[in-house]
Amino acid sequence: MSGAESLARAARRAQPAWAALPAARRKAVLRRFAAFVEREKDSLARTLTRDMGKPLSQSYNELNALPGRLGFFIDNFEAALRPHSVRDAGGTAEALTHEPLGVVANISAWNYPWFVGTNVFVPALLTGNAVLYKPSEHAQATGRAMARLLWRAGVPRSVFSPVFGAGRAGAALLESDIDAVFFTGSVATGKKVAEAAARRLIKVQLELGGKDPVYIAQDADPLKAAPAVADGAFYNAGQSCCAVERVYVHERIYERFLEAFLDAVRGFKVGDPMDRDTYLGPLARAEQVPFLESQVRDAVRKGARLLWGGRRLPRPGAFFAPTVLDRCTHEMALMREESFGPVIGLMKVRSDDEAVRLMNDTAYGLTAGVYSRSKARAQRILSQVDAGSAYWNCCDRVSPYLPWSGRKDSGLGLTLSTAGIACFLRPKAWHLRRP
Ligand code: NAP
Repeated sequence: MSGAESLARAARRAQPAWAALPAARRKAVLRRFAAFVEREKDSLARTLTRDMGKPLSQSYNELNALPGRLGFFIDNFEAALRPHSVRDAGGTAEALTHEPLGVVANISAWNYPWFVGTNVFVPALLTGNAVLYKPSEHAQATGRAMARLLWRAGVPRSVFSPVFGAGRAGAALLESDIDAVFFTGSVATGKKVAEAAARRLIKVQLELGGKDPVYIAQDADPLKAAPAVADGAFYNAGQSCCAVERVYVHERIYERFLEAFLDAVRGFKVGDPMDRDTYLGPLARAEQVPFLESQVRDAVRKGARLLWGGRRLPRPGAFFAPTVLDRCTHEMALMREESFGPVIGLMKVRSDDEAVRLMNDTAYGLTAGVYSRSKARAQRILSQVDAGSAYWNCCDRVSPYLPWSGRKDSGLGLTLSTAGIACFLRPKAWHLRRP
């Protein structure tokens, strides 16, 4: 029996008792977990930075934002569990109750392990599920810390079990006795996960990659938009599912935007991620460096202008210089494949319609942003873009109050919001005819 299989069996045995606890007990346990995370924030931030190279200040940002997310789930899950009387007519009452899915596998990514992990396992646990959590090998120590703190808070060990090991452990987990899989990661692995789930006919949710566009309309303030978009593109070294990956700028303000954008990028401090003032650290995966080099080479060969960076940096670790290219086209891999690194392509456009066409010319559909003084204009543009999240004068942003969902290759299903709690429950429809 594989390690995952025996953990799944133990989870199957333990889950009913966890689900049978009064909701207030599970709530108290997860509140304690939130308090432990807060108390250990300094060491957890360092662990995260050591795990995957995120600058320490950004590890703190992730942990500082966590109480708001956890609080949202803790404050809202009980409403999702409440039974409803739907109708009562002709001697028959119709009612609805909700039951947990059972044993949930959570295969997770390393780029924001606290965010993408807790988006799944916290509402799953609150609603009475057992969780088998597979952190990425690139965020293993963080995964161990999560398990330790959950157990210390009172989640039984069999109700939350971490599963370690690279892709092989994830694949074995998919073959074990689970009821659902919630996956965060790449499109390629997501398709394998969906295939495995289809063979078993179990519920599957996929939070996948993006090639998120931003459009700077003619009426935008280019000096305000430029540093915000640069941050959206380069924060966490561009290793965010909703990082800005393509920038379209109206020709009327193009030069002013470009100058301000380059100023912002030149100002990014690259260095040791443990230094408090470092903005850009190493990439989590060394293999991403040759991938980014090939995107830059391909773009330059096809006519792009390399304005900044474009190469590996000569220092220990997988450092890639913040890189800006313009005169890009959609013939270039840089404008089509997820870069997931500190590389950005810019294009000049002549109209809002051209921007809409280009924003939609992608296999992905996670987020899209418009910078404009006019809300009506931004809404008109964004309502035509096929993406799960729409940003006006902002980008690279997630809120626990809103659903997080990708369209097309960006995923299936959703997390966050009250709908992101309900997805860990199955409805039971009651038809109650009086004798
Ligand atoms: P990945 O390589 O697909 O890995 C994701 C997870 O799957 C990891 O835990 C990985 O384990 C595991 N895995 C690998 N092969 C597997 C297999 N055959 N069966 C089951 N599990 C397997 O993705 P990543 O590099 O960690 O993450 C980057 C991607 O995630 C990007 O595309 C990013 O856009 C996306 N992402 C999306 C969201 C969103 O909300 N939409 C959020 C964050 C990230 P190991 O890492 O241990 O090998």
